[in-house]
Amino acid sequence: MKEKSVLVTGGAGFIGSHLTEELLKLGHLVTVVDNLSSGRIENIEEFEGNPNFRFVKHDVSEPFCEDFDWIFNFACPASPDAYQTDPIQTTKTSMLGAFNMCGLAKRCGARLLQASTSEVYGDPKVHPQVETYWGNVNPVGVRSCYDEGKRVAETLCNDYRRQNNVDTKIIRIFNTYGPKMRVNDGRVVSNFIVQALQGKDITVYGEGTQTRSFCFVSDLVRGILAMMEKDGFAGPVNLGNPGEFTVKELADIVIEMTGSKSKIIKLPLPSDDPMVRRPDITLAKTQLLWEPRIPLREGLSFTIDYFEKELTKGKII
Ligand code: UDP
Repeated sequence: MKEKSVLVTGGAGFIGSHLTEELLKLGHLVTVVDNLSSGRIENIEEFEGNPNFRFVKHDVSEPFCEDFDWIFNFACPASPDAYQTDPIQTTKTSMLGAFNMCGLAKRCGARLLQASTSEVYGDPKVHPQVETYWGNVNPVGVRSCYDEGKRVAETLCNDYRRQNNVDTKIIRIFNTYGPKMRVNDGRVVSNFIVQALQGKDITVYGEGTQTRSFCFVSDLVRGILAMMEKDGFAGPVNLGNPGEFTVKELADIVIEMTGSKSKIIKLPLPSDDPMVRRPDITLAKTQLLWEPRIPLREGLSFTIDYFEKELTKGKII
């Protein structure tokens, strides 16, 4: 395949930095744009010195004007803790970011892949979630800045495609975990592993009966690239691992795998916390010939190794 000139917004973030690594391995020229609000320079340090790599500190809610073949729009804080810290900025990042990236793709003729989310399904009444389901989202709750921001990003992508023939694509990412997550990211996998390794209480919100489906990051990146390379398919397409676990089951697995003496404590369930989540990946299987390969325990063991090293470095940022 001919090398592409690629923009990755949010490329210093957890998923964006893994994606950048794969793009560089494939020989593409990669520009990472990130405002480092939740992304970390440590995630991309290893690429410095690679002549095909460039980092520009920039906020996607402002226009970015250069020519690219491919644009991956991944800029947005994704952990509920992070996106609720400055909810107005979260909506601006999703909405204006998508607007600016659609405009850029239109001007330079690039293919644009928008990172959307399972959050567009809200607290779903259809289970597992299939792409044709419109979702059950509270427009005025604490999660709305992220959910509605991503929904409008999807709207913009589809309208730029219909109205201006821009080659846009949408993926809906389900809970993803792996190395390069922040120690204090706030999401359930990182919280439980870090708490277990430090012998602290494991904080289960609510009764822990709510479910999530966890995808290891390398599986997700394979799906993202398959989607970008696929001609004639705009999505939206679910990318996630259909293995479904309760939060309490996850806590038990993490305690067992780390050999931790931590105790489980119950804290109040955050408002609008979805009670179930699991992707139907039939569309990804048929259109992209993609499905995850890494089961939860295998992915967790890589992630536990990573957090052990992070905690030894004392990098609690
Ligand atoms: N959760 C939990 N304890 C934690 C962090 C999260 O019980 O320390 C729960 C949370 O209430 C939710 C699930 O784990 O039901 C997944 O939360 P996360 O923040 O990882 O992402 P979400 O899927 O809600 O966006």
